[in-house]
Amino acid sequence: MAHAFCLDHGLLPKESLSLDAASLSGEVGRFDRACAAVSRELDDAIDRVGKQIGEEEAAIFRTHRLLLRDPTLTTRVKTAILERRIDASTALREILEEYNKLYGQIADPYLQERMADLRDVIGRILAQLTREVQAPILHPQEPVVLVAEEILPSQALTFDRHLVAGIVTESGGATGHAAILARALGIPAVSGLRGLLREVQTGDLLAVDGREGHVYVNPGPEVETAYRKLQREYADFAGKLIENRDLEPITADGIRLELLANVNGPLDAATAGSAGATGVGLYRTEYLFLTHPSVPDEEEQLAAYRAVVEAAPNRLVTIRTLDLGGDKHVPYLGHRREANPFMGFRSIRLSSAYPDFFQTQLRAILRAGVHGQVGLLFPMISTLEEVQRLKKIVDRTRVALHRAAIPFSEEMPLGIMLEVPAAALCIEALLEEVDFVSIGSNDLIQYLMAADRDNPHVAHLCEPFSPALMQLLHRVIRACNEHGKPVTLCGEMAGWPRCFLPLFGMGLRRLSMSPAFVPSIKEVVRHTTLELAERVANRVLQMQTYGEIRGYLTRKIREAWPHVSLLDVSR
Ligand code: PEP
Ligand code: MG
Repeated sequence: MAHAFCLDHGLLPKESLSLDAASLSGEVGRFDRACAAVSRELDDAIDRVGKQIGEEEAAIFRTHRLLLRDPTLTTRVKTAILERRIDASTALREILEEYNKLYGQIADPYLQERMADLRDVIGRILAQLTREVQAPILHPQEPVVLVAEEILPSQALTFDRHLVAGIVTESGGATGHAAILARALGIPAVSGLRGLLREVQTGDLLAVDGREGHVYVNPGPEVETAYRKLQREYADFAGKLIENRDLEPITADGIRLELLANVNGPLDAATAGSAGATGVGLYRTEYLFLTHPSVPDEEEQLAAYRAVVEAAPNRLVTIRTLDLGGDKHVPYLGHRREANPFMGFRSIRLSSAYPDFFQTQLRAILRAGVHGQVGLLFPMISTLEEVQRLKKIVDRTRVALHRAAIPFSEEMPLGIMLEVPAAALCIEALLEEVDFVSIGSNDLIQYLMAADRDNPHVAHLCEPFSPALMQLLHRVIRACNEHGKPVTLCGEMAGWPRCFLPLFGMGLRRLSMSPAFVPSIKEVVRHTTLELAERVANRVLQMQTYGEIRGYLTRKIREAWPHVSLLDVSR
């Protein structure tokens, strides 16, 4: 519970500020400083992208620099400040609006690209300007609930856990990347609340119930008292659970599981240890790139990967190669709008299209391998040929490192993420090629159900309770066990107590989740038996509807561990 703080990305229409005569030259100076900062950002991007990716990609930033230097833009903004006494942000938004009206309806790809470039440049200047304005507000004395149309993954990374008490957004879904980051930071979040920004104003008191997906705006005294009590109970219970940190993840009948953590960087890797994880099952390397102003070079990547390996429990880390695209973009890879970004130029498809860039990452990962037990994981595999091609690239990278006498891990196991149903259906053939498998259930569900994981209108289809998903998971887990290849499930469902019994009953022994969920899953593990789990899995595999599966698993978890269900989503 905390007061709301409404955010926008600067591009939305806003109340304009009218300035008094004395502050006009100050506003022009602020605009000049913002442009100078953007110019430095672009110079840096041109330089680094040109060297590390290619001149063609760097050309985008040259175009942006030309637009920034175009006196028509800067003169118009300054004239608007001085003559109409409006602030720089308002002037920029007006210009953008005008161009949108002029060119927005013309379906000419060239013009559309130029509009995208202009939006990009104006967005950068606005970001500089609002950073100045918002800095004091974004460092409030007490925690706030952020209210926004959407939270970008790169933004979520900058949140301070102590100042963000909750996040509520109009768009996005429970397995979207911003939600995943909120979860990693232990911040309650609710997404998909259409019309929210019309209902909520900065300063309103909000109660955010991230388990139920409820948000109360200015709740009455009864709701407030009830939620304050629940908040205390939740904190007490979570505090008690963390005491199980040093206990083994062993079931009541003596079967050992691996409870691993999903991390984005060294801080999370350290949290994984304090939460009681036995290693890092998924290191999402793209966050290094999302937070870096330009492409990190091999040494920078090596330093980052090594820091994660050294901070991880048992120095055990599965490093995933870049998984960009979909909802995660870096400007330097020449990102262009796509009609279906999750089904488009994403993830391994994107990395493979930039061989030098990709090799740099592979070299850094192979080199980081000498500092611990590291596995190399390729995301979003669709075909056998892709895997065969990737293995050749890894071989070539190894040879190059060898020739240069640079130390690297010679025996690093190679694995693939099962996220595309086609790959899951051909699992046997893929197992011949790889050392381990990781089931990315977030993407597997979205592709299996044809339901965008970030679209609130189809969020009900993205829950992990469909009979189709259960059948597919069963098939994959059984095949991996039969081939003696380790299989980990690393999507969000790994951290849901309700999903544990069927997964364990199907034969899964390794789960990787947000560190925040390790204590509650360990509690469930320590109080379960294989016999119970197999019974539950068999029942679930015979069910034919979502509702039956969800109802049955919810009842089971409540019956068996009423206290743990406090931490689960109980819808
Ligand atoms: C997944 O798809 O389940 C997964 C773990 O990858 P990400 O959430 O990063 O797409
Ligand atoms: Mg994925």
